[in-house]
Amino acid sequence: MGRISRGEQCSVNGCNVRAEYSVSYDEARVLENSGYKLRVVHGRVYLCRKHYKELKKLKKSESKILKWRFKT
Ligand SMILES: [Zn+2]
Repeated sequence: MGRISRGEQCSVNGCNVRAEYSVSYDEARVLENSGYKLRVVHGRVYLCRKHYKELKKLKKSESKILKWRFKT
């Protein structure tokens, strides 16, 4: 997970804000689970500040559930 340079747009469908963060699709899947549509680029997902925060928030609340909901 890291900051990215200019030029990319947020991968969330309908969000045209410039992306500031890039995460792996694996990490961003939490967003999909809660109803966001993601445009995945080579296994990466770009996020604007707002959606990155959203992801953080979702991850926090979902990490508890993850243990029993997704068995890998
Ligand atoms: Zn966004």
